[in-house]
Amino acid sequence: MTPASPTGVIRKAIDVAGIVQGVGFRPFVYRLANECNLAGHIANTPAGVSIEVQGPVAAVASFLARLPLEVPPLAKITSLLPRDVELQPDIAFRILSSRLDQPPSALISPDVAVCEDCLREMSDPRDRRFRYPFINCTNCGPRFTIIRDIPYDRARTSMASFAMCAACQAEYDDPANRRFHAQPNACWDCGPQVQLLDDRGVRVNAGEPLREAAGLLECGAIVAIKGLGGFHLACNAENDPSVERLRERKRRVEKPFAVMVRGIEDAERFCVVDEAARRSLLSRERPIVLLRRRPEAHVAAGVAPRNLFLGLFLPYTPLHHLLFSSCRCDALVMTSGNLSEEPIAIDNDEAVQRLCGIADAFLVHNRDILRRCDDSVVRQASGQTQKLRRSRGFVPVPVALEGESQPILAVGGELKNTVCIIRGAEAFLSQHVGDLENLEGYHFFEEAVEHLQRILEVRPKVIAHDLHPDYFSTKWALGWAEARLIGVQHHHAHIAACMAENHLDGKVIGIALDGTGYGADGAIWGGEVLLVEYANLHRAAHLDYVALPGGEAAIREPWRIAVSYLAKHYGKSLGGVEIPFIKELDWHNLDILLQMIDRGVNCPLTSSCGRLFDAVAALIGLRAAVNYEAQAAIELEMAAHESTDESAYPFELQHAGETWQIGTRSLFNWLLHDIRRGARVQDISRRFHNGLASLFLGVAEKLREARGLNRVCLSGGCFQNILLFELLRVALRKQKFEVYFHSEVPAGDGGISLGQALVAAHRLHSAGSSS
Ligand SMILES: [Zn+2]
Ligand SMILES: [Zn+2]
Ligand SMILES: [Zn+2]
Repeated sequence: MTPASPTGVIRKAIDVAGIVQGVGFRPFVYRLANECNLAGHIANTPAGVSIEVQGPVAAVASFLARLPLEVPPLAKITSLLPRDVELQPDIAFRILSSRLDQPPSALISPDVAVCEDCLREMSDPRDRRFRYPFINCTNCGPRFTIIRDIPYDRARTSMASFAMCAACQAEYDDPANRRFHAQPNACWDCGPQVQLLDDRGVRVNAGEPLREAAGLLECGAIVAIKGLGGFHLACNAENDPSVERLRERKRRVEKPFAVMVRGIEDAERFCVVDEAARRSLLSRERPIVLLRRRPEAHVAAGVAPRNLFLGLFLPYTPLHHLLFSSCRCDALVMTSGNLSEEPIAIDNDEAVQRLCGIADAFLVHNRDILRRCDDSVVRQASGQTQKLRRSRGFVPVPVALEGESQPILAVGGELKNTVCIIRGAEAFLSQHVGDLENLEGYHFFEEAVEHLQRILEVRPKVIAHDLHPDYFSTKWALGWAEARLIGVQHHHAHIAACMAENHLDGKVIGIALDGTGYGADGAIWGGEVLLVEYANLHRAAHLDYVALPGGEAAIREPWRIAVSYLAKHYGKSLGGVEIPFIKELDWHNLDILLQMIDRGVNCPLTSSCGRLFDAVAALIGLRAAVNYEAQAAIELEMAAHESTDESAYPFELQHAGETWQIGTRSLFNWLLHDIRRGARVQDISRRFHNGLASLFLGVAEKLREARGLNRVCLSGGCFQNILLFELLRVALRKQKFEVYFHSEVPAGDGGISLGQALVAAHRLHSAGSSS
C-alpha cells in the first residue's frame, strides 16, 4: 500500500463492474467527486467503469463510502475494487471518452419504463418536449433493444443516425443535467418521429399521427403500433367485434390476449390487484401480470375465453401514455405483432409486409429496434414473483451463480426457447425466442445466439443442448464440429435451473412435470421424480408409460390420449359405452386409433404429466381438441378452481428395480365411476389435482426415507398451473420438506437453457478433476 503523500493527499483507482453504463453512473460519480472536492476522472471501459480520485485521505474515504450507497436507481454494482496509485497533477474531475483496450464484460441495462420526471415534462405545455413520444433520460428509456454493440455509447445504438440539436447536446454535456450522457436523448427538433400508415403501408398525411391512431382505436380499428421490442397489434379491449376481428385475422383461436390498461385504477377495476401485484404492475420492468379477473369486469368476451385470469400491464413507453391520453379507451388489447407462433415484427417494412391484412393502420416511427424483445409475463405465487416469460425489462440482467466456469453456450429447447451463456460466475439468458418450428423462429434463434455472444464478448467452445435429436436447437449445436458438445436430458435441465437460481448444491429430489421432454430411453418423459445433482440424474419414479397415438397429433387432439389410457386399462371396451365421451367418439376414427395402439404404429410411449391432464380433460368432456398449447390442461385447472372438494383420486406406486412406476388404473376407475354418477366437472377436476399433489408428496416421502434427502425442487411447465403448484408446495411444507421453485427464470421450457448450462459446467468440472 502506498502511504499518503506528506501533504495527506492520496489517489485511488477504482474498477467498478455491473450495470454501470447507460444508467447515469458517470454523472453521478462526477457529482459525488465534486461534492467531495476530489480531482481525477471516470471512463466507461469494456468491463464497466474505471474511476480515479485524488484528494485528502478523509475526502477519498468519504467518496468510497458513499459510492455504493448512493448509486442511481438503475445501476447495479457487482464488484468494486479500489487500489492505490501514483499521484497525478489533476486539478479537476473529468469524464473521459470510452476506453476500448480491455475485453468487454460490462453489463448492458435492460429497457426501462418511462420515468415520472419525463412524464411530467411530457404533459407540460411549456416544456420543449410537450407530447414528445420519445422523451427519455438517464433514468429511463430504451437500452437493450437499441444497442448494436458495447461499450454503450450513442454511436453504437440505433440513435446514431440522429444528430443532437444544440439544446439536447447542451443537456447531454452538462453533468448537472438529468440527461447528461443519456445516449438516446432527443427532442421534437432532432429526434425520432412517428408516422401513420394506412392498411397497405402508405403514409397518411396526418397532422398528428398519434391522435389519429387513437381515434382509429376508438372507432374499433386494429392498429399495429411500433413499441420498444417490437410491434403490437392493438384494439379496444372492451369492443367485442374488434377483438373478434383481431382473432380471425391473426388466426389465433381462444389463446388469451394481454391487455394494456390506462392506469392502476383501471387494473383494479378489471382484476383483483393485491399489494405484490401492484408492485409488479408499477415496476420499471412493466411486465404483463397475470391477475384474477373480476367476474363483473367488462372486457370483451374474446379477450381470454374460459379463463379466470387476465394478463394486464401498464403503459411503459411515452408513446403508450400519449395514446391513452388521446383516446377514450381504458383498455387496449396489445398482442405481439405476428401471425400465431412466429416471432414479433420489429422493422417497419417487415411489419407492413407481415401484418398487412391484419392491421387497419400502422403507427410507426424511425428509431430502429435492433433487438426483438417480447413483453415479459409474471404472476404472484406464495409471496414471490414468478416469471412465466422472461424477456423485456429483465434481459440481459444475469442470474448470479455460485462458482465460475469457462464460457458455455446452452441452446435451450424447441418451444418457448431461450438461450443462455455462462461467463464467469454469471448466467445470461437471452430474451424469449419462442418456437423454433418455423423458419422465422429459427432465424431469430441464430440472431439471439450471435447477439448474446457479441455483447458478452465471448465465443464459447462448449455447447450444451437437449437430447432430442429433432429439435432445431440440437441440430444447430451438432453443426459445430469444433465445439465440445454436451447433451443434457430435458428434465435434468429443468431441475438444475431451479437449483441454480436457488444456489443449491449436492443432491435434491426433483419433481419435473411437463408436456414433452426427450427421455434417456427414447420415450417422451414428463411425469418425473428425479434424484438430481448438477452432473448426474437418477430417475426415481415416473408415470407409467402409455401410447401416444399419432405423436404430435395426440397433443393437438386430447381425445386420442384419453382413448389410449382407456384402452390400456380396459382393452377395446374402453370401460363402458355409457360415458358421453365414448358415445360421442367417431367410431371410424376410433377403430383406426385402436389399431394403431394395438400394432404400436406411430405410437411413441410417454410418461407425460401434461398428457395425463389432457386425457382427464377430454374424458370429462371439457375439450377433445385444443387450439393452443396446454389449452385442455388450463381449462381443467380453471374448473378445479371452482371446487373446494378435498378428496383425492388414488394412484398406485409399484417398485420396478431402481425406479418406482406410478400406475393410473385406480385413477381411471374413480374417474369413470364419478362420470357415471354425474359428479360435477369442477369436483372431478379438483380431485384430480388433489390426487396429483398427494401422489408426489408420497413419492417424496418414500425418497426421503430411502435416501435421507429433504430438499425438493419443483420445475416444468405443469407448475404454471397455480393450483397444482400451491397444493403440492403446501403439502410438502406441511411434512417439513424444504421446497424450492422458480422466481428468476420460468418453470417452463424458457428456463431450461440455464439448467443445461449448469449441468455442462459441472460435467466439465468433474471431467477436469478426474483426468
Ligand atoms: Zn426519464
Ligand atoms: Zn434535440
Ligand atoms: Zn419441459
